[in-house]
Amino acid sequence: MFPNDNYNGFSEVSDNLTLEKLLSSNKWIEYFHELSKTLNVELSGYNSDGARLFITNENPFCKFSRSLQAESLDCPNSCDQLLKSDVSHIFRCNLKLLCFSFPVIRFGEKAFIIGRGMFFDEYGSLLNFLKILRDNNLPELPILTPLNFLDEDHMKSVSTYVELSINRQLISLEEKYKLEEKFLRMTSLFDSQAFGTLSKRPELMYRYILDTIEFVFRQTSATLMVLSDDESVYRTTYCLGKYKDILPDLTLDTNNPVINKMRDTRAAVFLEDFGEVSSSLQFKKIESSYFFPIFIGGAVDAVIGIFTKEISREDMKILNAFREYVQLNLENRNLRMAVSENKKADKKLTYLADITKSIVSILDQDRLLNTLLDKSLQLLNAEQGSLMLLDYDTSELVVEAKRCIDDTVQEKMRFKKGESIAGMVLDKGGSLLVENIEKDPRIKQANRARYRTKSFMSVPIKIEDRLAGVLNLSDKIKGDIFNNDDLSLIESFISSVAIAIERSMLYKQTEKLQKLSITDPLTGIYNRRHLNRRLSEEITRYNRYKHPFSFMMLDLDKFKEYNDTFGHIAGDNLIRNLASMMEKSLRTVDIAARFGGDEFVAIFPQTPKVDAIQISNRLKEHIEKSLSEHNIEMPLSISVGLATFPDDASSIMELIEKTDQALYLAKKGGGNRVVYL
Ligand code: GH3
Ligand code: MG
Repeated sequence: MFPNDNYNGFSEVSDNLTLEKLLSSNKWIEYFHELSKTLNVELSGYNSDGARLFITNENPFCKFSRSLQAESLDCPNSCDQLLKSDVSHIFRCNLKLLCFSFPVIRFGEKAFIIGRGMFFDEYGSLLNFLKILRDNNLPELPILTPLNFLDEDHMKSVSTYVELSINRQLISLEEKYKLEEKFLRMTSLFDSQAFGTLSKRPELMYRYILDTIEFVFRQTSATLMVLSDDESVYRTTYCLGKYKDILPDLTLDTNNPVINKMRDTRAAVFLEDFGEVSSSLQFKKIESSYFFPIFIGGAVDAVIGIFTKEISREDMKILNAFREYVQLNLENRNLRMAVSENKKADKKLTYLADITKSIVSILDQDRLLNTLLDKSLQLLNAEQGSLMLLDYDTSELVVEAKRCIDDTVQEKMRFKKGESIAGMVLDKGGSLLVENIEKDPRIKQANRARYRTKSFMSVPIKIEDRLAGVLNLSDKIKGDIFNNDDLSLIESFISSVAIAIERSMLYKQTEKLQKLSITDPLTGIYNRRHLNRRLSEEITRYNRYKHPFSFMMLDLDKFKEYNDTFGHIAGDNLIRNLASMMEKSLRTVDIAARFGGDEFVAIFPQTPKVDAIQISNRLKEHIEKSLSEHNIEMPLSISVGLATFPDDASSIMELIEKTDQALYLAKKGGGNRVVYL
């Protein structure tokens, strides 16, 4: 008769359930009307004090009779008297209508339901009623319904049906009520506030979940298993009951059939044989178990295991409801946290993620450090700042990037560790947030004329656990002071880009080493190793574009004599001068290198022999002129050999040999000349 399960008035009265409230609730009155219409019977309910709780479509004879208020009919008082019966029974009222009555006892209360037939039991009773009306000069009874007599058996079955139907509803309601009560008991132990408080400490929250289950169900052994950080296995984080000692060893990997089944069915799994979970001997004594999944965002986040022989259907319902309740709260907590985080740092966090991404791709150290400083200033709306890196060789801080109003701090400026505030931060290894420099006892220097505000911060840059530098920020654009939110924002920014700083440092180091390996230590120009690489590149280029290139070898005339006359140091200087003159005189596309001793070479890319001869002669003139200006005591000249690829050679080796041959010819001819093949 109830349209659905929820149609029981429970929601309206659940706060403080009483039978009286229930029977007079709208849902139940609607239900009585349905019954009344179907069974063609008037239904009314009374509390134990005799007060009417409801009445359905009123019996037309009773209504008529009551409206007459005729003493001879003896209505309606006789009915009320009949209510006092504690057993269900069928009776005829004074009008000879068939009625029934039964008590309803629930929630420690008693109520009475009365049913009145809509017509007389037999034709004689109707005639009798009409006679009373006539004898007392009462109005004629309007004919409302067709003649339809009811016998006692029929009324009995109607009574039984109504009684059973009401009681069935009450029983299921009572069951549900008990369930709800248990559930409410659990959830009141575990309300949203508890979630809020415990959300910061998950271990404690899981513990609370199990304690709640234990409190309500008693004598349970249970475990709460949580997915590991690497998301490979569920491990017991808290357990209780008789298997407390062995449960910490229980693990379920993410492919365990129990986990798969929970994931597929999104429901609890019952196992009669624990061997399905683990074959380990120590768990042999566990007979059966229930596993309840806790889903967060579609994935099993945690598993509650309950080790008991049987959980009743009702308790199962409660546990499932509780599980859903926990899930919802956890999900809400996650959402709340995300929302409040976003609120706190408003757009800054998204911004942070964006710039971290863009910064991490910068390899060049100078550009990286400058971008990093700029972004840090932008993040905190600050104007001035500097970024210093530690020079591990000298233990000094070197200013690598700066945005300052004046020149007090300059790029590449060095500070000894103990000298500055940054040095202090580096020494202590922790950030320094200063709200007012004049009042901060940690800072000795009170006068900072070049800064507009009195607040600043210094944050150490750590690479893994090594201190690598310091970031200093000051002067918020709006003049306000730096706070802890600013500090944690910049700290998380620095830690997220530390890896990029390290990479740029390593990159710079490798670059340095690489450069060292291809340069000549005395002159700083390329050495022979690089020359070979460049020659092979030129040959590749020739093969593609067919542009010939030329190669030149140059040697000082009578350098031995110079050395002997002026000493080796003067000789070294002369070689350095020669190198720098070569670099200055050559075109930017040309490549100069020291071949060894007083011998230098140059590659002239895309240069045929005619042009190369011209260039070589011009170079010779330049060098000799310049050298003579510095060495008036001894006239200096050079010899040059020249060859062109592919005219004179078809490989690197051959090209070098041919050029060397030309140089040899120049020397052989007395030096001080350019010889080409
Ligand atoms: P030539 O006119 O035929 O070129 O004779 P040269 O005196 O210049 O002697 P040569 O080129 O055959 O020998 C180069 C000399 O340069 C040998 C060595 O004493 C000197 N030398 C080589 N490397 C260095 C260097 O790095 N510094 C100095 N001061 N002298 C060097
Ligand atoms: Mg020489």
